[in-house]
Amino acid sequence: MIATAGLVDFHCHLDLYPDHAAAVKDAEAAGVFTLAVTTTPRAWPRNYELARRTKHVRAALGLHPQLIVERENEIELWEQYLSETRYVGEVGLDAGPRFFKSLDAQKRVFQHVLQCCAQAGSKIITVHSVRSAKAVLDLVEMNLPPKRGTVVLHWFTGTKSDAKRAVELGCYFSINSAMLSNERHVPMVREIPLDRLLTETDGPFTRTDGRESKPSDVALVVEGLASLRQISANEVATTVRGNLRTLVGGRM
Ligand code: MN
Repeated sequence: MIATAGLVDFHCHLDLYPDHAAAVKDAEAAGVFTLAVTTTPRAWPRNYELARRTKHVRAALGLHPQLIVERENEIELWEQYLSETRYVGEVGLDAGPRFFKSLDAQKRVFQHVLQCCAQAGSKIITVHSVRSAKAVLDLVEMNLPPKRGTVVLHWFTGTKSDAKRAVELGCYFSINSAMLSNERHVPMVREIPLDRLLTETDGPFTRTDGRESKPSDVALVVEGLASLRQISANEVATTVRGNLRTLVGGRM
């Protein structure tokens, strides 16, 4: 197994582990560059507070599409905090059977999020797109010019042609272990350009060795990508770290 220092977990819910502060500490100790996403802007102050003194953890300001049915009005709070961060997420759309009924509201919110980000400039946005790759890309294309911000598609499960379109729109992709063990998605992951690849755990929503994944488990994703792309794990790690540096313009 490769060393965890310098690896990248660009989508992890550190505030959903039993001990949030310990989860931040563990990520920092492992030296994994971790983007701590949030599902509601109410979680922003504490996430920001815990991340700000670390070298490797950053907090992202989110409003999860699965919560829109009850929390659409929190978009106002989300907007109030936006100037405090460069990192946005988790946001996006979920057209799965449980959330389909709020899809119109989700689209309103996501469009507003993208427009606010475009206006602010240089935001990096981690985006959920369950059963809605085309709708997500349509909204990104219409509302976020590539020079005004960057979308990172998290746990993307669109088709190869959706992925190709996303690449043309300037998107990055954060890949997790569940994507690599799903034979429906592997052919799409294989074709993502190396210079658009990032890694993630989406902990605690993925599992490693029968327990909730944590940021250091991203080493397994690096190894999985290495065997998929027929290059060494160190080369994947170096590539992903370089992509992160390009994405953030040297400052994370
Ligand atoms: Mn997530």
